[in-house]
Amino acid sequence: VQFAKLRLAGFKSFVDPTELWIEPGMTGIVGPNGCGKSNLVEALRWVMGENSARRMRGGEMDDIIFGGTTARPARNLAEVTVLLENSARTAPGMLADLPEIEVTRRIERGGGSAYRMNGRETRQRDVQTLFADLGTGPQSSSLVSQGRVGAIINAKPEERRGLLEEAAGIAGLHARKHEAELRLRAAEQNLTRLDDVITTLE
Ligand code: ATP
Repeated sequence: VQFAKLRLAGFKSFVDPTELWIEPGMTGIVGPNGCGKSNLVEALRWVMGENSARRMRGGEMDDIIFGGTTARPARNLAEVTVLLENSARTAPGMLADLPEIEVTRRIERGGGSAYRMNGRETRQRDVQTLFADLGTGPQSSSLVSQGRVGAIINAKPEERRGLLEEAAGIAGLHARKHEAELRLRAAEQNLTRLDDVITTLE
């Protein structure tokens, strides 16, 4: 699976719809200070499910929406789409047969954000699991931002294990395990409730 295209609108300094093709191999972004290089990388992290406003360099998530300049009014909507090319058919699970997977995240001021996968509404958890299965994600070590190298050197052992697990491609399994545990707990609660009902009836 290849990242093929990134589309932004209303996201931080990218107020007008902007499309970027991502070619195979390594991608570098160059430009003068403040031109929006970090914003592009943040857009990619955001669409993969980043849910910490602080890690998006903001006080709250709405801060990623274009906040206006002296020349242009603020927007109330931001949207980022990433197009994944799956011609090798290596996407996980039910996505394996799709030639392309398009993931979109949209946020409305005061209204929170929502995700779509190939046009269909999707839970954040499913988007995060998809990227974890692909060996990447909002906090992936393959996105190297300023200060990251030092952060890895100073990381706690558990954090460093997280990086190794991501590299080994097992981060997705953890997400699945967590979800299975939540379902198990819900089922257990239903059973307990059922026991109560039976006791009442007896
Ligand atoms: P540097 O090389 O200095 O790190 P950079 O190219 O990485 O810079 P960014 O940090 O991506 O640049 O972009 C910063 C610009 O984005 C600033 O001009 C800032 O005003 C603008 N910006 C950030 N958030 C918003 C927002 N919500 N609305 C409008 N502009 C924003």
